[in-house]
Amino acid sequence: MIHQKIFYIETKSLPLGGVNKLLILDRDGVINEDKHGYFHDKNNIVYIERNLQLIKEYINQDWAICVATNQSGIGRGMYSQKIFVDLCERMFKDLLKENIVIHRWYFCPHNPEIEVCDCRKPSPGMLLEAINDFKAEEIIFIGDKSSDRDAAMNAGIKFIRV
Ligand SMILES: [Mg+2]
Ligand SMILES: [Zn+2]
Repeated sequence: MIHQKIFYIETKSLPLGGVNKLLILDRDGVINEDKHGYFHDKNNIVYIERNLQLIKEYINQDWAICVATNQSGIGRGMYSQKIFVDLCERMFKDLLKENIVIHRWYFCPHNPEIEVCDCRKPSPGMLLEAINDFKAEEIIFIGDKSSDRDAAMNAGIKFIRV
């Protein structure tokens, strides 16, 4: 089954069409530590400070920010979509205190062992959706894995590994 729908959480309304520069972030391993994989505990978020500093440098140069994250833990039944959304909302509030505004959170909830989708990285679905939504002229994706790099390549955008 191919999923055409791209899931996202909107955390701040924004005229998405009016953005010149869009920074797309992987979440786990970029914003927060993810030592054991499938991170989902909102009460134990460890932010990666050096990456937050990097994100701030982009924000200071008027880049808009969104997230594109694989969350097969949802499809695998390891945690619910609500737990994922609650965690993102906690992160949104924490990051807002540091003047980091994340406008939208794209996520793939699918379990690749039981379904094929076009959103799970390295497929480019989430990145293409973000590109289409924000209509930015300049786009960079920041990730920590080769599947992130491949997703950026498949979407035809620049990639930075952290
Ligand atoms: Mg990651
Ligand atoms: Zn998916």
